[in-house]
Amino acid sequence: MADKASTRAPAAELRLDSPITAIKGVGEARARLFAKLGIETAGDLLTNYPRRFEDRSRKSLLAEVPDGHQAVFHVHVVGVENRFTNSGKHVTRLTVEDSSGQAIVAFFNQPWLRDKFMRVKMHRAEFDMYGTVFRNGLEYAIELRDVEYDDGKGEAGLMMGRVVPFYSLTEGLSMNTMRKFMNEIVPRLAPLLEEPLPDDLCDRLDLMPVQEAVRQYHWPDSMAACEAARRRLVFEELFLLQLALALRRKHETLDVPGITFEVPDGFPEAFEGNLPYRFTDAQRRVVGEILDDMRRPRPMNRLLQGDVGSGKTVVAATAMAAAAKAGYQAAVMAPTEILAEQHYRGLSALLEPIGYTVELLKGSLTQKEKREVRERLAFGLTQIAVGTHALIQESVEFRNLGLIVVDEQHRFGVDQRAALKGKGASPDNLVMTATPIPRTLALVVYGDLDISVINELPPGRIPITTHVRPAARRQEVYAGVEALLAAGRQAYVVCPHIEESEKMEVQAATTLYEELQRVVFPHRRVGLLHGQMPAADKDAAMTAFREHEIDVLVATTVIEVGVDVANATVMVIESADRFGLSQLHQLRGRVGRGSNRSFCILVADPATAGGEQRLQVMETSSDGFAIAEEDLRLRGPGEFYGKRQSGMPSLKVANIVDDLAVLEETRREAFSLLEADPELRDPAHAALRRAIERHYAEMALATVS
Ligand code: ADP
Ligand code: MG
Repeated sequence: MADKASTRAPAAELRLDSPITAIKGVGEARARLFAKLGIETAGDLLTNYPRRFEDRSRKSLLAEVPDGHQAVFHVHVVGVENRFTNSGKHVTRLTVEDSSGQAIVAFFNQPWLRDKFMRVKMHRAEFDMYGTVFRNGLEYAIELRDVEYDDGKGEAGLMMGRVVPFYSLTEGLSMNTMRKFMNEIVPRLAPLLEEPLPDDLCDRLDLMPVQEAVRQYHWPDSMAACEAARRRLVFEELFLLQLALALRRKHETLDVPGITFEVPDGFPEAFEGNLPYRFTDAQRRVVGEILDDMRRPRPMNRLLQGDVGSGKTVVAATAMAAAAKAGYQAAVMAPTEILAEQHYRGLSALLEPIGYTVELLKGSLTQKEKREVRERLAFGLTQIAVGTHALIQESVEFRNLGLIVVDEQHRFGVDQRAALKGKGASPDNLVMTATPIPRTLALVVYGDLDISVINELPPGRIPITTHVRPAARRQEVYAGVEALLAAGRQAYVVCPHIEESEKMEVQAATTLYEELQRVVFPHRRVGLLHGQMPAADKDAAMTAFREHEIDVLVATTVIEVGVDVANATVMVIESADRFGLSQLHQLRGRVGRGSNRSFCILVADPATAGGEQRLQVMETSSDGFAIAEEDLRLRGPGEFYGKRQSGMPSLKVANIVDDLAVLEETRREAFSLLEADPELRDPAHAALRRAIERHYAEMALATVS
């Protein structure tokens, strides 16, 4: 694939921001391959770090390597012959030798290799082989992984006798090609890198200079150097992120005048007095943290985390009542209509009897209804507005919005959140999530927020009994469901999750619904709920289920969050192995909401032992945080957090599961650096400032430029 680009900058002018085609040997066709790997500039190629390394620095003698072990051998050819196997395949049998013995290497269906090795033999050339050695009497056999001849082009030594890098590839771009490019560009481009880390920090923490680190993290001198280089690059990556988050926090919270809410002492106690229950200790602590923020003259930016059923709604309600009491409006934004309605019902039940006005604004209202809701909001007649992103439409105005609550914020984009904030003048901001986020991930995604955690469930909850069952036992599972239905309970059946296509998921749901109604529960009322139904039909299905006009609700993951029907005491999740653990935990949280014992049956035939182990976590744990940690560990941050969800920064080197210690170190260092130099004005921090601007323009620019 030697494509020739017609215009090409002279080699000497290669810069980090040069297009990849400026590199010798990269034309349009190869540039397209690189683009598939996300590489568009020379700098992108430089930071395209290996996925892994293999230590091939030591060369061994055949006789000294234990049977079945891998090593590099330095050998010459003794003989080579072509044969046919019984099944008619070509085998090239190569005999090689070093000072300790001889070994056979077999190649299949590459008969031309014979001539090649004949020439190598004639020149008595020695070369390196990497593979697994097996003892066979006095002889050895090598199962070959790689072989490298010195063909005089100066490219030998890239994969033998050293620590060897392995890069991500794409079809048409081989490992050898990638290594050759890297061998050429790393020494040319690494010297162009500017050191972003202050000298004193590097000295104190023993961090390698950036140019050296980048060189070592492609072509390490040793495994130890490779590790040290990685540590330095991970540190830099996480340090820049933590600085950007801290700067954003400063910009949005500390430097901005906000609302000072007049919340009387004793307010939370009085509010609690109107509830049919007492706050849990965790709820009381978190309410205190939120009200303290609201009383301060700076905008609150706080994340409220709590497992399903931990009682976040009443905490949010307390904050909203406090805002209304102080003369401001509050708004709750939820990602789906079902959730918005759920919040509306919960909040109006709590707040209307004690004199607050609560209203729901959603897309499916008529034009007239919407206009009326908007008027009441604009005049301040409505104190608390609940809605979907219908709330951020231009036509929606508030008289004096003081507190915004965003539920499941990771489902909203930065723009949507900003738009809601823009409806008020520096309103306080409370973010709620029922998806417990492991501490590591929270530091990366929500590092600019203060965090409150409700780590306690209200008393008297009966834990949900969870079982994993193979598909072969479905009949038995549904017989168990029938027994509960006969006792007057209701059931959810969740359909297989199909990541690739919502349409296929809906189809699967419809098929399952028909099967359950016709074959399994012909005498029961079965309903269907999925994301592509018109909003009015979804409402109707939910209402019917809540009012027990439906016994079995077949649903896709639209019921994941918020839905609350106490009489539903069993959930069957089909093909449960297709879900993440945290998602299963979320789904399971839909049952166990009343005083009856509840069940969750995970129907699955996991293909691997790992998959089985994963599901067993669900049987043994009911702690959402522990499950989230396990899920993050098993699936990695990308999968865990979900590709479609916003807010996850892309990290090239760091792995937030393994690099927790560095993450916490960078957070401490970032805070202490900004304490000494809040605006990064010190000339010693100029390069650091430039690096943050480059990487996190949208996050931090407002403060740093
Ligand atoms: P979350 O939104 O965190 O999943 P909810 O706010 O929906 O949880 O609360 C779940 C249920 O627990 C609701 O029915 C609520 O009335 C009830 N609840 C909340 N706090 C308490 C408490 N302190 N004691 C008893 N029940 C509570
Ligand atoms: Mg809730």
